[in-house]
Amino acid sequence: MAAHILIVEDEEKIARFVELELLHEGYEVDKCGDGREALEIATANTYDLILLDIMLPGLNGLEVLRRLGHDHPTPVILLTARDAVMDKVSGLDAGAVDYITKPFAIEELLARVRVALKLHPVGPAAAEGDSTRAAAPADDKANGIHRWNKLLLDEKKHRVTFDCKEITLTNREFEMLRVFLTNQDIVLSRDTLLEKVCGYDYVGETNVVDVYVRFLRSKIDEAFDVKMIETVRGVGYVIKSEH
Ligand code: CA
Repeated sequence: MAAHILIVEDEEKIARFVELELLHEGYEVDKCGDGREALEIATANTYDLILLDIMLPGLNGLEVLRRLGHDHPTPVILLTARDAVMDKVSGLDAGAVDYITKPFAIEELLARVRVALKLHPVGPAAAEGDSTRAAAPADDKANGIHRWNKLLLDEKKHRVTFDCKEITLTNREFEMLRVFLTNQDIVLSRDTLLEKVCGYDYVGETNVVDVYVRFLRSKIDEAFDVKMIETVRGVGYVIKSEH
C-alpha cells in the first residue's frame, strides 16, 4: 500500500511541485495551505508522513506540531527558511523527526521522505518490518556507533577504525564523517554539510566541504581501496548504505 503523505504549505507553487514529485514516486498525497485546517486533517486521518511548512496562515507550523503532541504517531518533516535556526531547534524539540531547508533540492527531499518513512513507520505497515533485524543497529545508534562496510565510527570514544585499523581524523573530518554515516543514502548538499559540520554561523566558501571530502577520501577510500563518498553531480555527496 502506498504511503499517504500530507503536504502543509501555503505557497501553492512549492506545494504543487512537491505534490507532483511525490505522486510520481507513487505516494498518495493530500495538500493543505492553512495551519488550523492542517491540524484538523492531521488529527482526523492517519498519515504516514507530514511535510510541514513553518510560516503558515491560521496557525504556524511549530504550533501545529505542538498541538499534535509527542504522542501523535505520524512523523513530521519541517520545511524551514534558510536561517531560521530557532525554528529548527524548536521543531525538533516539539517532535519533528527531521527538517529540510528551503530552497531544497527535490532529490534531498525525496531521500529524507524515504528515510522518515523507513525509520518511523505508522500503522499496519510497521508490523511487517523485521523487528529483530532493526534491533542491533538501533542499539548501535543509541551508543553512538556508526558503521559502513568495515568502517566503524564510535562517537563516545571519538575513534574511527577500518577493519580494526585506526584512522586519525581532525575534529572537522570526524564530524563530517559522522554526518555522512548518520545520513546514509541521503544526498547531502554542500550547504547542508557546511551547516552541519561548520555550524550555522560559518562564513566562508562552500568549497571547504570539497576540501574535507578530499581529506576523507585520501584517508579512507584510497587507504582502504573502497568507494565510500560518492559525488552527485550538481547536488553534493552521499554515502550509500550497503545492504
Ligand atoms: Ca509558507
